[in-house]
Amino acid sequence: MAQVIAVANQKGGVGKTTTSVNLACALAKLGRRVLLVDLDPQGNATMGSGVDKRTLKASLYQVLIGAASIRDAIVRDTDAGYALLPSNRELAGAELDLVDLDARESRLRDALAEVDADFDLMIIDCPPSLSLLTLNGFCAASGVVIPMQCEYYALEGLSDLVNTVRKVHANFNRQLGILGLLRVMFDARVALAQQVSRQLESHFGDKVFTTVVPRNVRLAEAPSHGLPGVIYDPSSKGAQAYLEFARELIARLTGVQSPAASEPGAARPVAQEPAPSQSTKPERRS
Ligand code: ADP
Ligand code: MG
Repeated sequence: MAQVIAVANQKGGVGKTTTSVNLACALAKLGRRVLLVDLDPQGNATMGSGVDKRTLKASLYQVLIGAASIRDAIVRDTDAGYALLPSNRELAGAELDLVDLDARESRLRDALAEVDADFDLMIIDCPPSLSLLTLNGFCAASGVVIPMQCEYYALEGLSDLVNTVRKVHANFNRQLGILGLLRVMFDARVALAQQVSRQLESHFGDKVFTTVVPRNVRLAEAPSHGLPGVIYDPSSKGAQAYLEFARELIARLTGVQSPAASEPGAARPVAQEPAPSQSTKPERRS
């Protein structure tokens, strides 16, 4: 069975796509057969994998509404080393179209099941919302990775996300759990980032991945070359961090997996959204 991981955070611009693309690439470099699923109508994961979202023969949208088979939509030979289930703005229409269809929340899960034997891992790049699309992502996944920036409002909205994961667990998908929080775009020179990072560790303990992804311009440049940072500049700090994260994730999936990934209780501490305390007042040093 392929492990299916949703990369989710309903905020935009927090590093979901960068994490999805580079994690998929790093896992492929480590020898895993990986499918990256672009579940965002913006199609950034598609473009960032070197696939032109404007000229797709079939996309995830057609798969979800039953107009194309998943095998026809998957691009198997990307330069990024993984297979891609691509998307473009058509996917925005799925929200409406799915409402009238049967099993509207499990269309993605059912489609992915058809190609399960072809992959070891599937990574789902979720849209910046807690919508029907994200619900499809959560129904298909067994674990959620939450990328977070260590900033003043980092925790805002986290409880909504965690509650959504809980509800999906209770109503649709008993496999689902939160794998962990990943600190991204980290700038060690900013005192606030250090403070929020420590706060995350003290509140959420081992739910916070040890790997920290630094702010690194090579990761931001890579999409304009249609490549993940991990391939665009393998020696960059950002690429190295995502490779380290891929190793940490594999270890977590194999070792700690049962209590961490499959039990909703494991996500419990995250549910109490601690208000950013006094100690996190914006204060910049650099
Ligand atoms: P999301 O998918 O959550 O909207 P993105 O992954 O698209 O977020 O990231 C938002 C922006 O931040 C993009 O321009 C991306 O290139 C940039 N970015 C993401 N991670 C990093 C990083 N570690 N260092 C520098 N820039 C980053
Ligand atoms: Mg994105």
